[in-house]
Amino acid sequence: MSDSPYAAGLTVLAGPTAVGKGTVSTFIRDNFPQVWLSVSATTRPPRPGEIEGVHYFFKSPEEFDRLIADGAFLEWAVVHGRNRYGTLRSTVDAAVSAGKSVLLEIDLQGARQVKAAVPEARFVFLAPPSWDELVRRLIGRGTETAEEQQRRLETAKIELAAEAEFDHTIINDSVHRAAEELVSLMGVSGTSVSEN
Ligand code: 5GP
Repeated sequence: MSDSPYAAGLTVLAGPTAVGKGTVSTFIRDNFPQVWLSVSATTRPPRPGEIEGVHYFFKSPEEFDRLIADGAFLEWAVVHGRNRYGTLRSTVDAAVSAGKSVLLEIDLQGARQVKAAVPEARFVFLAPPSWDELVRRLIGRGTETAEEQQRRLETAKIELAAEAEFDHTIINDSVHRAAEELVSLMGVSGTSVSEN
């Protein structure tokens, strides 16, 4: 159905909250220069250390509205009931034109939108080794209030059921191993800059 120019080089990584999508994709960004990790736009304010254009393109709600109206997003979603996040078509197009394998680390709602727009893309679900481990990671990272943790755990239960919608599942038992498996699926294995 899709005649998207970037179908072949596009991989979507999604999975439940706290599974470690961000850690795995950051590891890939830092160790596999052949993979281009998409930089999303968001209405979330920057956290300490986050850099405009590296971690996100930080937008005001008004700017985000304008981008939606302009059709600038390949996908976008409200994540955790709060901030909006979206993948800009222009950034993905530029990376694909430069011959990069593109990795999108997005939430499940976004993954479903990409599946509708670019069904030929590769859809990878990152799963925890177990439910108990997911709970441990969510509570252990200590970045959310107890109420927020409960809300995210409820969401995570629903999100885990989405695994069947994906082409592949990778268990995040070790960041390095999961990253290697993902780049191998993407066809860019064996060239980690950390392996020397
Ligand atoms: P954080 O605020 O911790 O950086 O990210 C929160 C969540 O937003 C993560 O689950 C991440 O997958 C999701 N996310 C980041 N960028 C995008 C995006 O462009 N689109 C969608 N749909 N979700 C995103």
